[in-house]
Amino acid sequence: MAEYLGVKVEILSNDPEHREFLEHAGQGRFVLQKCEDCARLRYPIGNACPFCQALGWSWEAVSGRGTIYSYQIVTHGIHPAFRGVTPYPVVLVELDEQRGVPTEYDGLRILGLLVDTLGQPEHEERTGIGLRVQVDFADLGDGLGLPRFRLSDEPAEHPVWQYTAGFARPA
Ligand SMILES: [Zn+2]
Repeated sequence: MAEYLGVKVEILSNDPEHREFLEHAGQGRFVLQKCEDCARLRYPIGNACPFCQALGWSWEAVSGRGTIYSYQIVTHGIHPAFRGVTPYPVVLVELDEQRGVPTEYDGLRILGLLVDTLGQPEHEERTGIGLRVQVDFADLGDGLGLPRFRLSDEPAEHPVWQYTAGFARPA
């Protein structure tokens, strides 16, 4: 049985795309859907291309390397299972693939957890916009994996921007 933080992971039988996404991750592959018509990669997972509405697609392996575009520190767990891991950072990562497409303001941006080398939530002080990250996989069991991110050893892309304590937690 696949589980995360002790909670059973259930994927509906009519949702093969998410199961395949997690199966690839279970084998250490980070894949995204690539449109067979316009050849653009996309996320989140969906039936039709958001750029050209074509229905044909295939999985494409991506590097899993990117830059933190934005982030949030979650301090209130949405489920009792998260009680032991809060606070934890959720990052919006702009992948190296497909930057500035289809306009200069767009990119291939993926939400994920930011963890340390032990797979534990990364510290808030070590999280910031501009830092370089690489994909990492949590083992969910039953052949499934969950893509997430950890800091890479590359220098930050630009001066790192962080929420100040006063801004993140107003008095
Ligand atoms: Zn398309």
